[in-house]
Amino acid sequence: RAKSTGRDRCAVFDEAMREEAMRILDLEADLRRAINGDGFVAFYQPIVRLDDRKVIGHEALLRWRHERRGLLLPAEFIGLGEDSGLIEEVDWLLYAQAIEHLAHDKGGGYISVNVSPRHFLANDFADRLLRMIDRAGADPHRLRIEITEVALLDDVPRALRMLRTLRSHGVLAQLDDFGTGFSALSYLHRFPIECLKIDQSFVAGLIGETQPESVAVVRAIQALAGTLGIHTIGEGVETEAQRIALRELGCTYGQGFLFGQPAEVAPKLVALTR
Ligand code: C2E
Ligand code: MG
Ligand code: MG
Ligand code: MG
Repeated sequence: RAKSTGRDRCAVFDEAMREEAMRILDLEADLRRAINGDGFVAFYQPIVRLDDRKVIGHEALLRWRHERRGLLLPAEFIGLGEDSGLIEEVDWLLYAQAIEHLAHDKGGGYISVNVSPRHFLANDFADRLLRMIDRAGADPHRLRIEITEVALLDDVPRALRMLRTLRSHGVLAQLDDFGTGFSALSYLHRFPIECLKIDQSFVAGLIGETQPESVAVVRAIQALAGTLGIHTIGEGVETEAQRIALRELGCTYGQGFLFGQPAEVAPKLVALTR
């Protein structure tokens, strides 16, 4: 038996790999079925002015209502969706819901939607989005896209073209998870970006042991935003102390559990009353 120990270990390993492969295949089949059904829903989370908590917009966040596994978060299936190329179809389902909602809401608030880098750089992304907005009779000024720096740097000329096309029709872009990528002043000024979303890791770090580092990062981001003449949104604000700290560092807007959880009920997109 001693001789075959290695092989047995291999067999155990193979079995685990096989199970993992089956699980992924399963989920992928489920994904295809959910795309054709109504498994994907948009949840909306408010974005507020830190001063007075006035709602200025909402971020649409993808949820998968899985028949057996319950409500799934993006972390549980986006990677799979990207690998299989299915995430783009799922994204369009979500954009359609968000745009439909905008078309029927009389308020003035905006909805932002997340776009994965590869999707953003697909040739027809801007055209297709603009067509969808037009067909729904929605106001393009009330839709925003959220992209990460990766989407900008991979193919700069293309990203520029995409952002300019969208902006010329009223669709603004905000830079998501800012501070976790390259965050280089040297390229950022070239892109028409409406605002920077400060990654939640820095907001969380504003209180507690990592405070000096997080404060330094947020200061740097605020300085950058100031130079660019744009504003910032602090992500993942969970406590009153974080809200106050962010405001004192010059951040104008915030999003997080403190102001509201992502929820399915379509919000009334109240306009910012000054
Ligand atoms: P994100 O765009 O940075 O979205 C913010 C995430 O932070 C959301 O997670 C939200 O639920 C969570 N969050 C909000 N407030 C708080 C808070 O106070 N504390 C903490 N700990 N978390 C908070 P979610 O919904 O799980 O989404 C994760 C990521 O998945 C998103 O990060 C985004 O990159 C991606 N994603 C979401 N929806 C879509 C979509 O429709 N299409 C694509 N391509 N990606 C999406
Ligand atoms: Mg986002
Ligand atoms: Mg984010
Ligand atoms: Mg994030």
